[in-house]
Amino acid sequence: MAWRGKWRWLAGGAALLALLVIGRLSFTSAPPGVHSATRLQMGTLVTISVWGVADGAAERAMEPAFEEIARIESLMSRFLASSPLARLNEAPRGRTHPVPGELAQLMARGVEFGRLSRGAFDIGLGPLSDLWGFSREPPPTAPPSREALQNWRSRRSALQGEQGIEITPEGVNLANDAVGVDPGGIAKGYAVDQAMEKLRQAGVENALINAGGDMRIAGSKGGKPWHIGLRDPRNPDGVVAVMDLVGPKALSTSGDYERFFLADGVRHHHILDPRSGESARSGLISVSIQAPDSLTADALSTALFVLGEQAGLALLRLFPGCEAFLIREDLSFVQTEGFIAVRSKAP
Ligand code: AMP
Ligand code: MG
Repeated sequence: MAWRGKWRWLAGGAALLALLVIGRLSFTSAPPGVHSATRLQMGTLVTISVWGVADGAAERAMEPAFEEIARIESLMSRFLASSPLARLNEAPRGRTHPVPGELAQLMARGVEFGRLSRGAFDIGLGPLSDLWGFSREPPPTAPPSREALQNWRSRRSALQGEQGIEITPEGVNLANDAVGVDPGGIAKGYAVDQAMEKLRQAGVENALINAGGDMRIAGSKGGKPWHIGLRDPRNPDGVVAVMDLVGPKALSTSGDYERFFLADGVRHHHILDPRSGESARSGLISVSIQAPDSLTADALSTALFVLGEQAGLALLRLFPGCEAFLIREDLSFVQTEGFIAVRSKAP
């Protein structure tokens, strides 16, 4: 996920959203009883749909939810120079820098996923993300130089397997300049959870929020489930699974087709393996996670993508109530027993 509102990304973005809410891609196509609105936030299209709320009330309920996402973006965008997170990344290394408690808490969640995934999930890989520049405009067409990657790797390995992020009540201490915070693997999920809470506070019981592939569902549509399609990773118009979900439920997908370029026949994409400094090549090309909350689904989809099938499913077992749908390079797939899909087929 990138945090810059980039129209170029979005041109493909509407088609590339990992999860398509069938028949619900725009306000006008909303079926009876559903009100939807879409905004450009956190570098992606955020769609909120609510069911069973009268016209004006729906708009009024959605507004604080969108505002909450905007608030979170201004707190933790890497690209708004004024955000507390950007200022942390600019601060001198080896010293404690004060950050708002909410940001420290989210970072602590990221560090915890880093620990559980043995470093596959790395909220501190900001400098590596900057080297690759998948959030840049124009998007990259070539990998970083070997020297730049080697330099990052040696600075990173100086930390001897530590994440290099120390969080205390006083603030956050980043160990060296190979470490900087990139919350892209977790923050959209967090924002979606918080936005759903705003809808709940406004009295909305039935809703769906989709932030570019990080999705959370509450209730149903008058007893009918929310109908969701999972995108074929190699065909933007194809669907590999169809899900009928009733909330509370969250669903996130990480895929190698969201931001990528091909160079000399090699696909380089935005999910990075902190161990190599390169795009993760674990044998998986798409990972979808169903979970009780969106933050967990978001972090796990990224972590499992990097870990691959075997180690990824072992990590998943640490999280009760979480289920996975994995698509391999050869387009075969595997889904865990409790993954809810009404229909799934190889792409
Ligand atoms: P997602 O689309 O949720 O899988 O997140 C991908 C985004 O997370 C990227 O655009 C980066 O901002 C960030 N990211 C990339 N690789 C990792 C990783 N190994 N651990 C944590 N965050 C990552
Ligand atoms: Mg993620």
